[in-house]
Amino acid sequence: MAVMEPLTEQQIRAAFVNCTKGESKRLHVPRDLAERPWADLDFLGWRDPRSPERAYLVTELDGSRTALALRCPTPGTRQPPRGMCAICLTSPAGGVSLMVAPRAGKAGQQGNSVGTYLCTDLACSLYVRGRRNAGPGARMQESLTTAEQIQRTVTNLAAFIARVTA
Ligand SMILES: [Zn+2]
Repeated sequence: MAVMEPLTEQQIRAAFVNCTKGESKRLHVPRDLAERPWADLDFLGWRDPRSPERAYLVTELDGSRTALALRCPTPGTRQPPRGMCAICLTSPAGGVSLMVAPRAGKAGQQGNSVGTYLCTDLACSLYVRGRRNAGPGARMQESLTTAEQIQRTVTNLAAFIARVTA
């Protein structure tokens, strides 16, 4: 199971796989990293407060650290009000956003990207653990344990990363 160790800004910047080195140096990284609930995170996701169409996430899977740069085209439009996140299978009151990741390497340079629906606030880990209330009816009633739901979230995230880095 992916219990994350706290990461530093430098570690996060070094982990980006789908943007240029220059971009990874300049992009917005949260300043409050030390206060993030790392032990309850499968990934840390955040938005650029100055450019809401930019979002980022970083995770560590099987000992390998990966950060992705994501775009949220036309935030808030063309999306069902209560869509489901493809990573954590929550339909949060705060909504989901289509997030698009340029693919790593040559494919990305040629404009290829892959998209997924993600919780708009990127708080999947906290919803799955019940650490953040996603709103009434946001989580399916299901027989899986929390640990199994966490495992499923990690599996979905790994599959998305694999599509970006393939
Ligand atoms: Zn989610």
